[in-house]
Amino acid sequence: MSTEQLPYQTILDNLYDGVYVVDGQRRITYWNNGAERITGYARWEVEGRCCADNLLNHTDTEGNVLCQTACPVTATLGDGEHRQGEVFLRHKEGHRVPIVVRVAPITDAGGAIIGAVEVFSDNSASVARAKRLAELEADALSCPLTKIGNRRFIDMCLQARLQEYERYNWPCGVIMADIDHFKAVNDTYGHPTGDAVLCMVAKTLQNSVRSCDNIGRWGGEEFLIVLPNIQHETLMVVAERCLRLVRESRLPLEHGNLGVTISMGCACIHKGDTLNTLLARADSLLYISKENGRNRITLEDKNSF
Ligand code: GH3
Ligand code: MG
Ligand code: MG
Repeated sequence: MSTEQLPYQTILDNLYDGVYVVDGQRRITYWNNGAERITGYARWEVEGRCCADNLLNHTDTEGNVLCQTACPVTATLGDGEHRQGEVFLRHKEGHRVPIVVRVAPITDAGGAIIGAVEVFSDNSASVARAKRLAELEADALSCPLTKIGNRRFIDMCLQARLQEYERYNWPCGVIMADIDHFKAVNDTYGHPTGDAVLCMVAKTLQNSVRSCDNIGRWGGEEFLIVLPNIQHETLMVVAERCLRLVRESRLPLEHGNLGVTISMGCACIHKGDTLNTLLARADSLLYISKENGRNRITLEDKNSF
């Protein structure tokens, strides 16, 4: 079995988990980037070698060496069963690394076992701690309902952009968007449907902007988008796309679909702006959109720069 035959190889190459494939003789035929990272061994060092060579010297949690006797890969090559367990491998630098392994058989078109694939991930406490920290950080910065950034998150983004503007003069725009007549949605369809509309609008807005843009839920039915490195004209283009895509989104209900519109105020960072002055401008531009009939955008006058 050659690596050329592996489907989705690029995806496999770049998975965070370690992945390796052995043939029927336990010779390693594939080794991805994750495996390199977790074990310290580069692809060229292991491909073609037999995993029974005690290369990684798998042991169980009691320290019993598994490679020659109780190797899950060998067992799967023998009986075709999927296996999972917690073991330790030996890193190239010598230390032990706890890993979670999952082994699955690879069969040919006739069902004969021709190899096995082992997927393994780092199980160390440091990894668990780092993951937990990342989760806590994500919790602290995201809105639990809509899963986009919360006010604190967007506040942090804006502060960073304001500093960049001051230091390097990098342009940045903001869009403040507010759902029109949202109270009526709650009053007519109930709060849970209102919540679902908030999620729909958040997702659509997120999908309407560039990957470098940040979006957060600013308040009840208000969203703020921060768009770094954007010119006045492009800000309008993005805002128009957001307006249209939200207007064309529909929440399926029992008796038909529910749609909403948004109004927006768009401003760019000016010299001397603070968070408060910038947001006050975006807010008053949003207010003009509301006054003028909603479902529209008000972009600050270019001459006011
Ligand atoms: P306008 O077009 O002028 O913006 O009118 P509006 O009805 O959208 O604005 P208003 O400020 O009168 O009402 C906002 C409503 O949003 C009132 C509040 O109950 C509702 N709301 C705020 N947060 C949530 C939430 O998390 N879930 C739901 N379902 N409703 C919320
Ligand atoms: Mg509103
Ligand atoms: Mg509002």
